[in-house]
Amino acid sequence: MGIDTFKEKCGYEIDEMWLPRVTAITSILNKPNLYRYFADSPNYPAAQRRLDSAAEWGTLTHEVVERMLKGEIVKPDAKIIPSIKAFQKWRENNIMRISDPEKDVERLVVDTKHMFAGTLDVVAEVNGTRGVIDLKTSTGIWEEHYLQTAAYLSAYNKTARLKEKCTTRWILRIDQYEECLGCKAKRRGKEGVLRVTGGKRICNHQWSEKKGVVEFKELEGYKEDIKAFLAAKELWEWYNKKFIRRIPNYAKN
Ligand SMILES: [Zn+2]
Repeated sequence: MGIDTFKEKCGYEIDEMWLPRVTAITSILNKPNLYRYFADSPNYPAAQRRLDSAAEWGTLTHEVVERMLKGEIVKPDAKIIPSIKAFQKWRENNIMRISDPEKDVERLVVDTKHMFAGTLDVVAEVNGTRGVIDLKTSTGIWEEHYLQTAAYLSAYNKTARLKEKCTTRWILRIDQYEECLGCKAKRRGKEGVLRVTGGKRICNHQWSEKKGVVEFKELEGYKEDIKAFLAAKELWEWYNKKFIRRIPNYAKN
């Protein structure tokens, strides 16, 4: 990778400084879930296609949800309709207030003390508590999500006015699958191929309609998570030192 690609991929140029990106830093973590793609696929390109397809699914869902949060009327792609319906239902059952949708959805945040930047999904008040929300379309909530959201919360609060400060962080996970009426196995199509998890190995699966599910989870343990994130940042800097040495405006804290 060339230095320009590295800078483009891993950070932001803000006020004459180059700051590393939250998701670049968390990519240093071991991701056991990733191996699954390779183990499940006949070869490397097939695994890559599944990963790309899952990422595309995530982007598609993100775009629609974020546009809805900005008050736009959206006609979602047919394949994600169960997800979007589940999200609408979740919204009807919760009181979510976004004070400035233009600013608070897809918001660039800079941690001016620890020197990193990122784009958080949503800042909102949900059922009376103000927090940072990260949207996910994964099949679960993983360790890296704890570090990522801790980083966003820390960065956001650095520049927020007193009454705008957030006290927590959540994952809003939107999932979609068919479920076997007999053994409760789940079948998802997000990877471009159908994938079955759980349930019984030997079962003449009877698949339900596609259904969307929302998991809204508050993440506890901010203090240890931000500490771990900053440690990950150091490790990331060490790992990428050959590049970082060549960035004269690297924002070292
Ligand atoms: Zn079954």
